[in-house]
Parts: sequence; structure tokens; C-alpha cells
Amino acid sequence: MPKKAVVIGGSIAGFLASHVLSKYFEEVILIEKDRYTDDNTVRNGVPQANHVHLLLVKGREILEEFFPNLEDELIKKGANKIDFLKDSRYRLPTGWAPRFDSGIITFTCTRMLLENTIKEQIQKKSKIKIRQDEQVTSYVLRDKNKLSLKTKEAKEINADLIVDCTGRNTKTPSWLEEIGYSKPRETKIDSFVGYATRRFIPSSPSSKTSKTKRDWKMLAIFNNPTSNPRTGVIYPIENGKWLVGLYGIGKNYPPTDEEGFLEFTQNLESTELYDALKDATPDSEIYGYRVQGSRKYHYEEMSKWPKNFIVLGDAVSVFNPYYGQGITSAALAAKTLEDMLKEGKKENDFAKKFQKKIAKTISLPWVLGTSEDMRWPTTIGKRPNTITRMVQNHAQRVLLLAPKSTLATKSFLQMMHMKKPPTILFHPLLLIQVIAEFLGKRN
Ligand SMILES: Cc1cc2nc3c(=O)[nH]c(=O)nc-3n(C[C@H](O)[C@H](O)[C@H](O)COP(=O)(O)OP(=O)(O)OC[C@H]3O[C@@H](n4cnc5c(N)ncnc54)[C@H](O)[C@@H]3O)c2cc1C
Repeated sequence: MPKKAVVIGGSIAGFLASHVLSKYFEEVILIEKDRYTDDNTVRNGVPQANHVHLLLVKGREILEEFFPNLEDELIKKGANKIDFLKDSRYRLPTGWAPRFDSGIITFTCTRMLLENTIKEQIQKKSKIKIRQDEQVTSYVLRDKNKLSLKTKEAKEINADLIVDCTGRNTKTPSWLEEIGYSKPRETKIDSFVGYATRRFIPSSPSSKTSKTKRDWKMLAIFNNPTSNPRTGVIYPIENGKWLVGLYGIGKNYPPTDEEGFLEFTQNLESTELYDALKDATPDSEIYGYRVQGSRKYHYEEMSKWPKNFIVLGDAVSVFNPYYGQGITSAALAAKTLEDMLKEGKKENDFAKKFQKKIAKTISLPWVLGTSEDMRWPTTIGKRPNTITRMVQNHAQRVLLLAPKSTLATKSFLQMMHMKKPPTILFHPLLLIQVIAEFLGKRN
């Protein structure tokens, strides 16, 4: 058994990597620059935690496989278990999605509750030592193409394997360049999405002041490419509260002042969210966020790569958060790491092979998210090839059919939740429905 692994960055990707490594290394050290708090307040290293964090079904399944009592723990602390179609109301460009028992199930809660509950699972593992308040500041090249780390206090740390999980602000490209490696190629696609998020206490659904019939736990009014760039979501969190997220694409950034926030909700594709908010009580300030686009580093292409070093999570690939793919992609990468360690081959090019494998793993969420972004002419970045465009056009037809078809709705959601591959949209029954709809429109 190899002796020591060091993981940099103690957030979701770092926890999942540490969990996997603890099965195959004698000791795992997890280095986090922040000091953790005992409650669920948002810490400096993860400012995104103020915003809605949707856990896709594939991500939930991997988390539950890693931590079998996660569901119980989350529910105990106030998370909600919801069926995406039975418990939610979705406004799509062509109407409301049908509601039925879909089996597409996940938890909803604040990002900090999810992170802290996973952290508690990690803290139970005696092989994992968490070192808080410690910041990695550079890499050092040792002999035989191996790295070690340097921290702010100028301590040098050696390990058999080093894992970068420092998220979207990773310094790995420049730190590797400083010690003689080349810079990775970078792909960027930016659809200029902005967020505004506020916590609310809903009125009781039966209260006299409540003007809306509320038979849902989650409400989402989606944008309508390309006529309406606004999306709004009511997302249930702990203690019966709501996190309300407003999203604008193509630089239509939602305002972060009280009046502007409410006005934005009046201009969604339906006024249902505005009606629900009228009776609700604000419970936080309004948090804004400007997304820097989707970005991936192509480490898999680098001919010279350190022997004992891998990168995963947002540090490799940042997805447009609008599609809720970040945690699930980190979970998929941790699963890939587990599969490779399980194979047990101690090859010299383990690290290089890992980067190649996860480049494939993250290509699905990348295509799913960026192809939705490309529906907007304001998005910048390389346009997809003809085959991808044909698949995208078909996916769009399936989505537009969704209000009339449970099969279309379920298939589209299963794909977006990475539960099923995009080929699910080519099921013969669905193809018949899409063709019938197309012919019906022509006549
Ligand atoms: C606005 C917004 C909304 C999002 N919504 C969703 C969503 O709905 N669903 C979803 O799945 N994902 C969402 N994401 C993405 C999600 O937050 C990340 O994909 C997920 O947290 C995994 O990230 P990570 O662990 O790789 O990095 P992060 O969560 O960014 O964590 C990096 C960690 O590394 C630490 N660190 C950084 N540098 C150093 C250093 N030098 N030394 C030591 N420690 C260091 C940081 O303090 C931090 O703890 C969203 C992101 C944003 C920005």
C-alpha cells in the first residue's frame, strides 16, 4: 500500500478524493486554507455557497454509494427529499411540464449543509487528517519528475500522490509553469450568466394572505431562448425556508437591490414565482454572482506531466453553474479515481492516465451545458460541429414537446441529470412523438 497522499482544497471535490484515497493509502492529509465553522455559515473559500446548489441524480447516487448514511444525516438536519417531477412545477418554453412520479429523486438543502455533512463523514475516518488554516503556495520539482508542495509557512510536504482540488481559482497552470512544465491549453465558453439569490420564509400555504395555491415544493420558471433570458427558481432548503435564485443569460444580470429583484421576477415567463414571493418574508440580503463562463484545462494533452500529481473537480473543469453539474462532475471524477486504484496497477504513468480518463468523463456534462448555452447568440466560444448541432436540435425538439409528453419530459431530465446517456432521446417511441409533433405543426 502506498504511504501518503496529500489533497489540496477541503471542499466537496477534496472530500470525495480523500474518501477514495483513504481506502488505498496508509495516510491522507487534506490541506484547506480556510478555518471551518461549526454552523453552516458560508466561508471565504466557497463564496458560491450563498447560491442554489442543485445535486443532480447521478451525483446523489455516487455520494450515497460513498457514504451510505448520508441521506439519513441530511434529512435529520432538515434537507428535503424531492421527486423532480412530482414535487416540482417547471415552466418550460412551451408550457408547464407534466407532474408524475418520475423516480428522479434528489435532496435539496443549502450547499453548506451538504458540504458539512460530507465533512463529518470524512472526519470519522482515522486515516484522513484535515489541516485547516494552511495554504499551499507553490510546487517544487523533486527528482524523477515528482512534485512536492510548499505552504505559506514555507513548509515543504512530500507525498506519493498529490491531488489538486482547489477549485475554480486553482493556480496549478502557473505553478507548473514556474517549475518548467508547459501551460495547459484552455477551452472557454461564456454565456454571460449572472445570479441574484435571496433566502425567504414562505407564508403558510393555507394562510389567509397567501394568494397562490401551492402544491409544489420547488418551482422553476425557465428562460425561453432567445426571447426571454430570465430564469427564476424557488428551491426548498432547511427549516422550511426557500432559496430564491434569479438567473439572467447574455449579460441580462439580475439586480441585487430589493426593487430590481422583485421586478425581475415579474418579467419571467410566468408570474407564478412573483405571486409566491409576494407573501414571503425576506430572510437574508441579496447575493449577486457573475459567472466567468465554462472553462476546462486540457491537462490530458500535456506530454510532460508530474508522476505523482493529479487534478480534479473545478480545478480541471468549471461548468456553467446554471446546469448544476459541478458536484456531480467532481463525484464522477472521484469514482474514476476509485476505479483506477481498484485495478491496482502501479504504473509509472498513473497520473497521466487519470487526466486522460477524466477528460472523457467530464466531456458529457461539458457538452450538455455548453450546447444549451450555444442557443444564445450572445454566447462566445467555439461553436459545436455539425453532428453535435444535430443532436442539440433534436434535444431541443424533445424539450419543446415535454409539456405534452411524460416520456419526453422524463427522458430529457434523465439526460440532464446524467442518469442516462443522450441516446435516450433517440428511443423509437420518442422519435415517433417528435415526428408526429413536427408533422402536426406543418399541417
Ligand atoms: C454561483 C455558483 C453556483 C453553483 N451551483 C451549483 C449547483 O447548483 N450544482 C452543482 O453541482 N454545482 C454548482 N456549482 C459548482 C460547485 O460549487 C463546485 O463544482 C463544487 O463545489 C466542487 O468544487 P471543488 O470542490 O472542486 O472546488 P470549491 O468548492 O471551489 O473548493 C475549493 C476549496 O479549495 C480551497 N483552496 C483553494 N486554494 C487553496 C490553497 N492554495 N491551499 C489550500 N486550500 C485551498 C478553498 O478554500 C475551497 O475550500 C456552483 C458554482 C457557482 C460559482
